[in-house]
Amino acid sequence: MDFELSPEQRRLRADIVAFARAELGQQVADDDQAGRFPWADWRRCAEFGVLGWPIPQEYGGSGFDPLTTVVALEALGYGCRDNGLVFAVNNHLWGCAIYLMLHGTPEQKEQYLRPLAAGSLIGAHALSEEQAGSDVLAVATTAKRDGDGYRLDGSKCFVSNGPVADVFVVMARTGERTAGQNHLSAFIVTSDMPGVAVRRELPKMGLRTAPMGEVSFDGTPVPAANLLGAEGAGYRVFASTIDWERAFMFAPQVGAMERLLEASIRHARSRHQFGQAIGGFQAVSHQVADMKIRLELARTLLYKVGWLKREGRLALLETTMAKVFVSDSLVQTAQGAMTIHGARGYLAGDGFERELRDALGGPIYGGTNAVQRGVLAELLGVPGALHGSGSR
Ligand SMILES: Cc1cc2nc3c(=O)[nH]c(=O)nc-3n(C[C@H](O)[C@H](O)[C@H](O)COP(=O)(O)OP(=O)(O)OC[C@H]3O[C@@H](n4cnc5c(N)ncnc54)[C@H](O)[C@@H]3O)c2cc1C
Repeated sequence: MDFELSPEQRRLRADIVAFARAELGQQVADDDQAGRFPWADWRRCAEFGVLGWPIPQEYGGSGFDPLTTVVALEALGYGCRDNGLVFAVNNHLWGCAIYLMLHGTPEQKEQYLRPLAAGSLIGAHALSEEQAGSDVLAVATTAKRDGDGYRLDGSKCFVSNGPVADVFVVMARTGERTAGQNHLSAFIVTSDMPGVAVRRELPKMGLRTAPMGEVSFDGTPVPAANLLGAEGAGYRVFASTIDWERAFMFAPQVGAMERLLEASIRHARSRHQFGQAIGGFQAVSHQVADMKIRLELARTLLYKVGWLKREGRLALLETTMAKVFVSDSLVQTAQGAMTIHGARGYLAGDGFERELRDALGGPIYGGTNAVQRGVLAELLGVPGALHGSGSR
């Protein structure tokens, strides 16, 4: 067992941290207040290659192996203070590009994956609906056979990147729910297809620089060539891809935890009350210690997932644990950092309240942590912990 990063991974990490610190998130306080997508930063990410890190070189990406991808994303989360921007990158990669990587035909990869890797197209995942949240199989959007292709009707909510996206991976019903899991199919839908509309932007508590919207389809004609996987294989496509999202989407959160830990240590040493540094009070020092414990456990779990994926091994148990542990840990660490900074932590300008607002989404997206605990229990052989959900 070797816990060391390779010299190349260490260099990559340093380069990414330097890039993210210097080039990204300089306007985050204003962008967060305005709920504004940082287009210039997005383009910088594209130029630096971020949007193609895990995508094979033959499609214009960097072809990073899964473990290196985890290391790279962690570095991005550490160096970039704009968690919303990083979240938008993650939705592009793990809500859209990964579906094409794993399930796309060579033609689909050429047409969509290549521009996604270059960042000339922005990707999003349109799965959730008003009545289909944790219960993925309750999707009501339909794709009915129409000539050579399909006609798509329905509405999706909570679509991250929705208002700025060019390509959506959309789950729709091609059969009745009674057909078990075989009633869902996955489609590649572009924002310029007739009948596609972003009906409204959804302002939210945190991650405000990553826009979210409702996307509707009104008789949208989708060519059969845009079916992702076979008709009726949508749930299998989803289930075999979601564990990538659950692991990799949360890698930047480990970087954010380290950033918050370092800020907390600095403050614990420099802020004096009652004639001494506040770090001398056990109530403060123990919080710092707990932040470090969470950071190391989260990192170890994620690196294990990266390693398992690199070896081509199943990692569902580990990705589920990682999703829950990392997202819960970041909430605790962000709250701890805010508390250690006292009133300054609560002020809008200093960023700690934003970090906490951003962190609070993590236990919800990617499938809520309650549902993940149910999945975990089922994987451990406790039946009935979950009904009908793999959940996004
Ligand atoms: C920041 C953010 C970004 C998102 N981005 C996207 C996106 O890009 N694309 C997309 O399609 N969706 C996205 N979502 C939606 C997300 O996937 C759903 O919010 C999530 O699956 C839960 O669905 P729901 O909100 O409808 O909650 P519900 O399913 O209604 O759940 C409500 C509550 O009941 C609990 N619950 C439900 N079922 C169970 C169960 N079986 N066991 C235990 N508890 C249960 C949940 O844990 C939760 O506490 C995003 C959400 C957020 C917050």
